[in-house]
Amino acid sequence: MTYLGNKEKGLLYLVPTPIGNEQDMSPRALVVLAEADLIACEDTRVTAGLLADRGLPFKELISYHDHNEQARSELILRFLQEGKTVALVSDAGMPAISDPGEILVKKSLEEGIKVCALPGPNAAITALAASGLSTRYFHFEGFIPASGKERKDRLSYLAHLAPTIIIYEAPHRLLKSLKDLAELGLSRRKICLARELSKRYESYLYLTLEEALSYYAKEKPRGEYVVVLEGREEFFTRLPEALAEEKEQELAALRKEAKSLLAEGLSPRSVLSLLQKYYDLPKNDLYREIQSLNP
Ligand code: SAM
Repeated sequence: MTYLGNKEKGLLYLVPTPIGNEQDMSPRALVVLAEADLIACEDTRVTAGLLADRGLPFKELISYHDHNEQARSELILRFLQEGKTVALVSDAGMPAISDPGEILVKKSLEEGIKVCALPGPNAAITALAASGLSTRYFHFEGFIPASGKERKDRLSYLAHLAPTIIIYEAPHRLLKSLKDLAELGLSRRKICLARELSKRYESYLYLTLEEALSYYAKEKPRGEYVVVLEGREEFFTRLPEALAEEKEQELAALRKEAKSLLAEGLSPRSVLSLLQKYYDLPKNDLYREIQSLNP
């Protein structure tokens, strides 16, 4: 294990680990773990197990997780500044992607420390590649907030996004998220449900959102999921008539709201300034529509 050879000192390595299949650990990742002076990891038991399974030498492990990221980053930075090599791992997949790491990477770069990310397992990119949806442009969302205004805002933001969307989802929340997305008018969008990637029960479901809802009305979601959702652009290219329908629905909603505001005595100008930010229509069209409703 001399792959690093004249390894650079004071370097932060981001080391991806398998998301299911143990064979997805790269030889280079093993060498970095074997040679690092310190391994920062999400759960020391998980990483100690990984080192033992691979017959790697016992290492000094330091926990680095969601709840101590800020404070631990300072400590790890001191090691790096002393010229030590640090490897950062999470429990599975690529560190810093819906996992701890971002803060340490930022701080390291600010301090002029070199960061080296090893390529390797990541659930989002694996699912996207096999999704059958556009891979030209995509948006990685990760986990959607569990509840409240934050969740509502995030979902409506996603509903309007042009590129393919990648979402991480826990099995007990999958159905709720599918329902919430359908309620935003996305029932006819294609989705790919990538489940248990690289594990024994790996499966991909290629459906529309409404088909997925019927499917999971009968089947209980199990395991880990990546949801890949067709973006607005691909959807309207595939179903151009849906765009006209959406515009018509938007117009109907606008007319309803504008009528009630006009009936309260507001001028068409005031109604325009109140409503324009909520409707994706050219300002002149909007004003003409409102004026035509003025009694
Ligand atoms: N850092 C990881 C990566 O690079 O993919 C992601 C960690 S995040 C805490 C865990 C989420 O990733 C899971 O809830 C699931 O949505 C997704 N995930 C991880 N492993 C997966 C797998 N084998 N199959 C499907 N989804 C997986």
